[in-house]
Amino acid sequence: MADKQAAHTERLAPQAAGGVGLATSPLGSGEPVQHDQQDQQDQQDQPDHPGHIIPPRDEGGPSGRRSLADIIAEQERIFIDRQPESAKLAVEAREALAGGVTSSWQISRPQPVWLSHGSGSKLYDVDGNEYVDMHGGYGVSLAGHAHPAIVAAVQRQVTRGTHFAQPTRDALAVAKELSRRFALPQWRFANSGTEATMDVVHLMRAITGRDLIIKVEGCYHGHHDSVQVSVYPDPDDIGPASRPASVPASTGIPRALTDLTVIVGFNDLATVERVLTAYEGQIAGMILEPIMMNAGIILPEPGYLAGLKELLHSHDALLAFDEVKTGLTAGPGGATGLTGVTPDVMSLAKAIGGGVSVAAVGGTHEVMRHVANGDYEQVGTFNGNPLAMAATRAMLQEVATPEAYQRIDALREQAVQGVTEAIRRYGLSASIVAVGAKGCVVFSAEPVRDFRGFLTIDDAYSHAHWLFQHNGGVFLPPWGKSEQWLISVQHDEADIERPGTSGRRRSRGERARRAARRVRVQRGGAAAALPDRAARVAGDVADPDGQQADRRRAPP
Ligand code: PLP
Repeated sequence: MADKQAAHTERLAPQAAGGVGLATSPLGSGEPVQHDQQDQQDQQDQPDHPGHIIPPRDEGGPSGRRSLADIIAEQERIFIDRQPESAKLAVEAREALAGGVTSSWQISRPQPVWLSHGSGSKLYDVDGNEYVDMHGGYGVSLAGHAHPAIVAAVQRQVTRGTHFAQPTRDALAVAKELSRRFALPQWRFANSGTEATMDVVHLMRAITGRDLIIKVEGCYHGHHDSVQVSVYPDPDDIGPASRPASVPASTGIPRALTDLTVIVGFNDLATVERVLTAYEGQIAGMILEPIMMNAGIILPEPGYLAGLKELLHSHDALLAFDEVKTGLTAGPGGATGLTGVTPDVMSLAKAIGGGVSVAAVGGTHEVMRHVANGDYEQVGTFNGNPLAMAATRAMLQEVATPEAYQRIDALREQAVQGVTEAIRRYGLSASIVAVGAKGCVVFSAEPVRDFRGFLTIDDAYSHAHWLFQHNGGVFLPPWGKSEQWLISVQHDEADIERPGTSGRRRSRGERARRAARRVRVQRGGAAAALPDRAARVAGDVADPDGQQADRRRAPP
């Protein structure tokens, strides 16, 4: 990729990976998790300290290292202990919300986290715990929470009407700004990433009059039929790398439709060429995340994206970038801006709305002509609704500014340095991939260049990492190895520092809450039994038959 890309990959030589190494591996400063004096005092004082809830484990093995499974079990207990109110809500919610959540990706192990509010770079759960938000609502919250510019724009629009189904000046301003950033001249709007990629696929088929599309194994593009194929296929089903199978990503997706989606590996130009030749005249186009962000982060190799464009065009097929995730987060002009490769058509969503639901489809004149002349009917009652357009305009003009990206670049470097140090210190077989506001730890000794490499990563490490950070006050996205952290424009150095001290230092507020809970526990009664009950309930609610956690492997 071009060196102007604000991407950072640092790979470390494989070293002995150990459970305890991971367990004490903080994300950030790289310092070991050692309780400070106050915490040691807390431990002695507090019967509800994890050490008291969870009996000491067998420290088996010559090195005295605990198994990863033990570490996870302990962290899950701590997790549940910290969140009794979430556990109660999970029980109540099960009556009225299928699976107890509003989207299956909100299910996390050991239990869903119910939130109360967000402010700036922080999130607060219903139990009063504060977190540095690095989940970012699966890549949406680049503005942070309640950003003054977004609040003002939304408040202004709410008082002037939230829906007309007619264009407003804000929509025009947004389209012009997207054109400037993403080098595509014309735009339409939608409400979710799924809608946008559905329009993109429809458009490629409408323009070429061909039915087949090419999709990359392991890329997620939303939950419509054409792209719910080989999102997180089982290793037993995937077939050889040179001819990957088209595996339905969910029940309810007819085989007849998945057969129209031909699968290739990321960074594999040869297979794309083979497919284009094998299905000569039948391929409408190819959709991919130009930087894969649903399998950790996988960067395109030099020449890959430009090579795809050339290959596809030489077979009269179109190139579509799904920048729903990379959009404003990889940089001001997304992966398109970073790599200098402009697709024929593109989808955006997530971060562009500053936290309000919105999506956009952009294309060349040649592509969008088919929208303009009615050949392809791009429609939707809420498309370009004034509330979403007001928020998106504020996001583009006032929040995602050059200064904001400068700050984010510095914070990313701070995060990368801290994590690198931690990985080295604990001798982990891991590496960091970070681009723009996004980053992740890849628990693999080998560089990952496609989904098949990603499949070899043991997710237990990512889960343990997630639990440790969560229990230490850092909210990373659950479903570890698929996801990335997001740094918002409202994060500061202390926020990036906090992951490094995760599990080491508790805030005064948290110490007070823990003390209050200790009193309740000492009084006995229902409250005293809560951690155990919560554990049972949460296991039951979050994963009644042990299936959810396993099934929910398709990453957002
Ligand atoms: N495309 C990509 C790359 C995504 O990551 C997602 C969601 O995570 C989507 C599309 C679908 O977006 P939405 O969930 O808004 O429908």
